Amino acid sequence: MKIIMLGAPGAGKGTQAKKIAEKYSIPHISTGDIFRANIKNGTELGKKAKTYMDQGLLVPDELVVDLVVDRVGQDDAKNGYVLDGFPRTIPQAKALDEALAKLGDKVDYAINVEVPDENIINRMSGRRACVSCGATYHLVHIPPKTEGICDTCGAELILRDDDKPETVKKRLDVYHDQTQPLIDYYTNSGILKEVDGTQDMADVFAAITGILGE
Ligand code: ADP
Ligand code: ADP
Ligand code: ZN
Repeated sequence: MKIIMLGAPGAGKGTQAKKIAEKYSIPHISTGDIFRANIKNGTELGKKAKTYMDQGLLVPDELVVDLVVDRVGQDDAKNGYVLDGFPRTIPQAKALDEALAKLGDKVDYAINVEVPDENIINRMSGRRACVSCGATYHLVHIPPKTEGICDTCGAELILRDDDKPETVKKRLDVYHDQTQPLIDYYTNSGILKEVDGTQDMADVFAAITGILGE
């Protein structure tokens, strides 16, 4: 089962992708997490990506596409994967389709987690991310058991630099401009599925499993 998560920044793609990965025993591949790991480790890719991420801009396609094509070709991705944060542009979507087509393969589902802009600032300002394992929480909606501490690994929770309101506004503009056209792209290829992302986390997940099957 090969799945793409679509939706605005903060729509809940990552939250749902982790649950999908667990339930269907497939890897969760997040390009944002890959970039943040590279930044943490001080790699060349990380240095390049950071200059764009800090401004709320997309990292150029040529820095993303090969990385993802390589990742989905690895052994653990043979039975499927859930892509979170990729593709984010039409050229990225086309590059993925072409790379998969060469292997006689294709994406099965593009799930659009629909959340209106007015809810996004709240989602992002309350998002807290674990500095160590990348788990995400929300101050109000999905709080950790102990304030400021990751339930999973005990490390500190922080507000991502790019989740500050000024940058979130820029990211939303970029989303509407460059990523939203993917909804038409996957509607045309017949694999788009919509879910209402404003519901509780568990209800969003129930809608998704309704689509993917038990
Ligand atoms: P969010 O959780 O808000 O959707 P991500 O963690 O997916 O954000 O991405 C954080 C940042 O990493 C993006 O704002 C962008 O700069 C960069 N990024 C992640 N994935 C991609 C991609 N597929 N193409 C270009 N830039 C990306
Ligand atoms: P994305 O990966 O699309 O950027 P996240 O999964 O990181 O989004 O979710 C953004 C924020 O909203 C996080 O703080 C997360 O805990 C919270 N969140 C996710 N799903 C829901 C939901 N259904 N209701 C309320 N808050 C949610
Ligand atoms: Zn953690």
